[in-house]
Amino acid sequence: MVGAGPGDPGLLTREGERWLSQAECVVYDRLANPALLDLAPDSAERIYVGKQPDRHTLSQEKINALLVEKTRAGLLVVRLKGGDPLIFGRGGEEADELIAAGQEFRIVPGVTASIAAGAYAGISLTDRRCATSLALVTGHEDPDKGDSTVDYKALAGIGTVVFYMGVGRLAAICAALIEAGKPATTPAALVENATRPGQRTVPGTLATLPELAKTHNVKPPALLVVGDVAALGAERNWFESLPLHGKTILVTRTRRQGSRLARELQSRGARIIEAPTIAIEPPNRWTMVDSALAQMESFDWVVFTSPNGVESTWGRLDHLGLDARVFAGSQIAAVGPGTAAALQTHGLKPDLLPETFTAAGLAVALTHEKIENAHMLLLRGDLAQPQLHDALKQAGACVRDVVAYRTVRPEALRQDALDALTAGEVDWITFSSSSTVENFLHLTAHAKIDLAKTPQIRLASIGPVTTETLRQKGLSPTAEANPHTIDALVAAILAAEK
Ligand code: SAH
Repeated sequence: MVGAGPGDPGLLTREGERWLSQAECVVYDRLANPALLDLAPDSAERIYVGKQPDRHTLSQEKINALLVEKTRAGLLVVRLKGGDPLIFGRGGEEADELIAAGQEFRIVPGVTASIAAGAYAGISLTDRRCATSLALVTGHEDPDKGDSTVDYKALAGIGTVVFYMGVGRLAAICAALIEAGKPATTPAALVENATRPGQRTVPGTLATLPELAKTHNVKPPALLVVGDVAALGAERNWFESLPLHGKTILVTRTRRQGSRLARELQSRGARIIEAPTIAIEPPNRWTMVDSALAQMESFDWVVFTSPNGVESTWGRLDHLGLDARVFAGSQIAAVGPGTAAALQTHGLKPDLLPETFTAAGLAVALTHEKIENAHMLLLRGDLAQPQLHDALKQAGACVRDVVAYRTVRPEALRQDALDALTAGEVDWITFSSSSTVENFLHLTAHAKIDLAKTPQIRLASIGPVTTETLRQKGLSPTAEANPHTIDALVAAILAAEK
């Protein structure tokens, strides 16, 4: 039983990750971030048992039975539950079922919503200046109906009180606390979607909050924090103050490459939708690559023009039982820092990086070397422009041009990306090459999405070549990276947001 934490996938524990990575079956809730499912092996069965406030997908009895059935079948089952499994999570009941069925289990704690909301909204729940105690309370019970077992009189004497599941009964809860003796002026705050890109804090008092919640249309999941500490947070609310908080950014790239850009934007508060518009495939035949690798000692230079070229080449080396030593006798050139970083993961440092990170820049840098009569191997993608090849040839080099990977268009854009675009949720789209532009436009044309008619969606381009492709399509980017790197792309978006 693994606590998934409150939403931000980074808040999963390492122990939770370790179990997930071995799971044969994952049974997960609505509040567990589905991104965590990517940590489980592809082969693991994934079963959604989330409850909606209005309808139950699976009753608790059925969930219990499912856990018993899957563990009895000998599977390593990870029961992934939002927050902490035992804090208002019915994890205890599920554990009892497993005990009754004679099944072994472990419980991995998670960051519970109240603790997470405190940290991400800057509310110090037990600030010694105003709170010596903290209570976590269910707001699920109706204080108006005589059947509530929540002792409001006792709560009135507690420094900080946090209600889970209380949005629907907010007015009744605030009234009950006032009636039990908490002053109506007691600070209170709602924290909606804590730690998620949509986090929102609505501060007020016991008297004003129910009305404010209506005005701001606060929806579950949200927590109610009651006590003087709730008045302390405004300047400390670092998460909602991040420069890209509340922005949704669609990142178009290959899945693997997109992730660093996604992480950088995410760490500045953006909600990221990764929409791969490029899939990298091996070359149609490996013969050319294999024969080049077999004759590596005859090449003075080997030139990598993208991280994809590096990864594809290494995949092949691995397959052939070879490693970085095949390049020991050659000089290595990389088009830019991304390609250099990919080489470094395999233990190689490029001998040459151009000042401008484009094929043209690389051509200039290489022609400054003594390459007349040099034998050069170019490991490139199938769509590469001929400029680099031509420039090197003109400088007198003997160039072997080899396709190390193919760039293909996926069949469709991911559904979550299409949904966000149609719902008008997207603030930015990032393009990291001309083919991301072309493929994106092709994939969205089917879905009747027209960027030229949606100026509220701003475009960010990795550099002049990509910008030119956008212009040819009648689009103009609001942000352009200079130099041509991920860091500069992030900086350009931040500057445009200022
Ligand atoms: N086991 C979970 C709580 C489950 S009860 C935990 O430890 O956090 C469900 C309630 O938790 C919701 O109604 C809401 O009050 C709270 N909650 C869960 N995730 C939340 C989040 N990201 N932001 C605000 N409240 C959250």
